[in-house]
Amino acid sequence: MPELLKLQNVKKYFPVNGKNFLKAVDDVSFAVHEAEVFGLVGESGCGKSTLGKLILRLIEPSGGKIVFDGLDVLNARGQELSKIRRGLQIIFQDPLASLNPRMRILETIGEALVVNNIVSRREVKDRVVNLLEKVGLDTDSLYKYSHEFSGGQRQRICIARALAVNPKMIVADEPLSALDVSIQAQIINLLEDLQKDSGLAFVFISHNLLAIEHFSNNVAVMYLGKIVEMSGTGELFKEPMHPYTEALLSAVPKPEVGEKGKRIILEGDVPSPVHIPPGCPFHPRCHKRFEPCDTIVPVYKEAKRNRWVSCHLW
Ligand code: SF4
Repeated sequence: MPELLKLQNVKKYFPVNGKNFLKAVDDVSFAVHEAEVFGLVGESGCGKSTLGKLILRLIEPSGGKIVFDGLDVLNARGQELSKIRRGLQIIFQDPLASLNPRMRILETIGEALVVNNIVSRREVKDRVVNLLEKVGLDTDSLYKYSHEFSGGQRQRICIARALAVNPKMIVADEPLSALDVSIQAQIINLLEDLQKDSGLAFVFISHNLLAIEHFSNNVAVMYLGKIVEMSGTGELFKEPMHPYTEALLSAVPKPEVGEKGKRIILEGDVPSPVHIPPGCPFHPRCHKRFEPCDTIVPVYKEAKRNRWVSCHLW
C-alpha cells in the first residue's frame, strides 16, 4: 500500500520558566500506509496525545516534517490546507466535550458536509441519516442534542462527524478511555468494521494494550516523548524487545485459562519530561539496566528486520 502519512524528526518543546524545555515529543519518525492502523501506546504523559494533535496541526511543532497524502502539512496554506483537513480527521477522548451542546445532531454532522461542499443543503439530511446508519444510530437521533445520548452513542456521533468529509485517515485519540468496558468493545468493533469496509487508515492512540493488539497492524511504544520500540503488532506482542514494552505487556491479563506471565512492576513514577534522566531515559525504572545505561543514550535502530528499538541490549 502507498504511504499516506510520514513524520520525520517531529518535536514539540514547551518552554518552562524561560530556561528549560518540556520535551513533550522528541524526534519522532514513522510512516503510516493507506488502510493501515498504526497504534501509539504508552503511559499517560508520554506524549502520544500531543503527537496526535501535531499530526493535525492543532498545535504547531517545534521542528520536523509531516507529509500527508503528498502534502507538506506544516507549510500548507489555502486549498492545500483544506484538502489536508478533509483527508485527516480526529476523534477525541471525551465525546461530550467535543460536541456542541446547543446543536442538534443533524446540524452537528450536517455542518461539516456544508462547510466542505460535500453535498448541497437539500441533500444534507439524507447524507446525515446515511452516516448515522453507518455508525449504528437510528434516525430518531437527528433532532436530539448531545446530552440526550449515552457516552458510547456520543462517540458514535463523533465518528459519524469525522466520516462526513470522506477522510483517508482518522487520528483516534484515546477514543475508548471515557467509556464503560462493555461499550469500549462495541466502539472498537465499529472502528474495525469501518476500517475494513472503507479502507480507512488510523493512527490509534491508546493506553489500552488489548485494544491496540486487536486493532493495529503496527505499533509504536512511547516513553518520555520518544518512540522506544516500533514493529508489527504480532511481533511486538509475541516478543517485546524493549524492557519498557515488556513491563507494559506483563500487566495485560491473558485470556487463555491458566496462562499467567510474571508481572514486571515498574519502579517509581515516570520522570518529569523537563528533567529527563541522563543515559537511557528509562534507566531509573528498568529491571534490566546494566553498566552503560545511566550514562550512555542508546541509539534508536533497526535491531531486527522492521523492528526498531532504543536499548543497549540490542
Ligand atoms: Fe533498560 Fe538499559 Fe535498555 Fe535502557 S538501555 S531499556 S536501562 S537495558
